Amino acid sequence: MALSHTADNHDFNMTALAIRMSRMHNGVSRIHRNISASICRDMWPQIEPEENPVGYVTNGVHVPTFLAQEWVDLFDRRLGPQWRYKQHDPEFWARIHDIPDHIFWSVRQSLKSQMFYGIRARLTEQNLRNHGSEAHLDRLLKLADPINPNILTLGFARRFATYKRATLLFQNLDWLRKLLLDPARPVLLIFAGKAHPADLPGQSLIRHIHQVADMPEFRGRILLVEGYDLRLARRLVSGVDVWLNNPIYPLEASGTSGMKAGINGTLNLSILDGWWGEGYDGKNGWGIKPVSENMEASLRDAEESRSFYEVLQDQVIPLYYDHGKFGYSVEWVKMAKHSMASLLPGYGTNRMVGEYVQKFYAPAARQGAGYSQDNFAVAKTVAAWKTRINAAWGGVSVRRLDTPGKELAFGDSLNFRLAVRLNGLQPEDVVVELLLSLQYNKTRLSQFKPFRLECTGTLGSHEHQFELNHVPELCGRQQYFLRVYPYHPLLTHPLEMGKMVWL
Ligand SMILES: *Cc1c(COP(=O)(O)O)cnc(C)c1O
Repeated sequence: MALSHTADNHDFNMTALAIRMSRMHNGVSRIHRNISASICRDMWPQIEPEENPVGYVTNGVHVPTFLAQEWVDLFDRRLGPQWRYKQHDPEFWARIHDIPDHIFWSVRQSLKSQMFYGIRARLTEQNLRNHGSEAHLDRLLKLADPINPNILTLGFARRFATYKRATLLFQNLDWLRKLLLDPARPVLLIFAGKAHPADLPGQSLIRHIHQVADMPEFRGRILLVEGYDLRLARRLVSGVDVWLNNPIYPLEASGTSGMKAGINGTLNLSILDGWWGEGYDGKNGWGIKPVSENMEASLRDAEESRSFYEVLQDQVIPLYYDHGKFGYSVEWVKMAKHSMASLLPGYGTNRMVGEYVQKFYAPAARQGAGYSQDNFAVAKTVAAWKTRINAAWGGVSVRRLDTPGKELAFGDSLNFRLAVRLNGLQPEDVVVELLLSLQYNKTRLSQFKPFRLECTGTLGSHEHQFELNHVPELCGRQQYFLRVYPYHPLLTHPLEMGKMVWL
């Protein structure tokens, strides 16, 4: 039980237990790493979240499962079967731009047709079960026409967890009406998804979508497809033109359906949260900056839905319908190709598993082998060292001996001299460090460059002297910190002990 406590709560905490019982920890996207490191900061109480031992490996999707067969066939023909072994190679995927636009576009249209066929079958079944009339079904299916799939189609499908805000686009129905009902540039919106049986607010989102989809003017323009599963997911992510995601930042740890869409040439229009925070490059879809986390929820929904309407109105719809003489939008195809080329190499499970091996599994295996040698002699050494550190650390302190000047001429050196009270520890049990940064930004520890101070003797019987002569490489205003932390070369992470004394 003690291993599962947090600083301010002595209930059983699974995360605290898991962190204490493991030596490597990771988030599933860069943003998620930072949020997790911050939430779990008390596990390493004297370390700032920027530096604590939490890493990240961004999720990926299984390309053979989610890349539509049409793309597989096209790649085989155009890029050669070796594309399968180049999945992680961005240079190789730049060759997507060599595929002629009309061929690329015809694959996209064919995938949309197939999606429409699938959706028609499901909606027909739904209508039958609900005793809907033939006329009602015709109205529903009017725009989802497999023979003529030229309508801009937006998809939103996932679990209906409340943080994903499935109904965000219903914030302003008048605006939505204007966007979907323009006779020259119609838009179709397809929803699918399930809520957990115990998630009543999630279920009420589904009810809300049903109600709006059933409003006379939206019939056939907003479709709610039941029975979301892997099969339907594969159809939707590859068949729609734009994949929507509008979670409440920063709650989308990674998200994966947008990756499935991206590798199929479907463009993402999403809040910059989770994987999209790093996947979006400014040209491979659309990224919506989240408003401040401190903003009140209803204001936030209003602001962010407004951003979605604006991007749809000013960018997505005009780009899609910019047909010119080809019958399709050349600029859209360019963006979709770039989206595929930029996302295929980065968001497959090959890259993900490779990163887990590199960052975690291989180092863990090496360390496990090392620790277990000689009947765990090394592990016992580290354990004894940790016990010693834990007992002594409360009495470790540091003071400054040199008098810091405010200014320095170029080429002069800075002399740092510290007296460290080690409370029975040895100089080699600690790192005494200078952190230097050109930026004046107290909270961004990651921007600092570290330099070690060396032990140069003892001061009386209780203190050790540590020194560094440092010649700054660059001119200008600089910021620095001095600190002491316990260190042993056999630790998994240099700051694993979670202890630090700042000067
Ligand atoms: C990919 C997938 C999900 C996850 O979707 P997110 O939008 O990343 O939450 C959920 N359900 C199914 C069936 C999927 O294929």
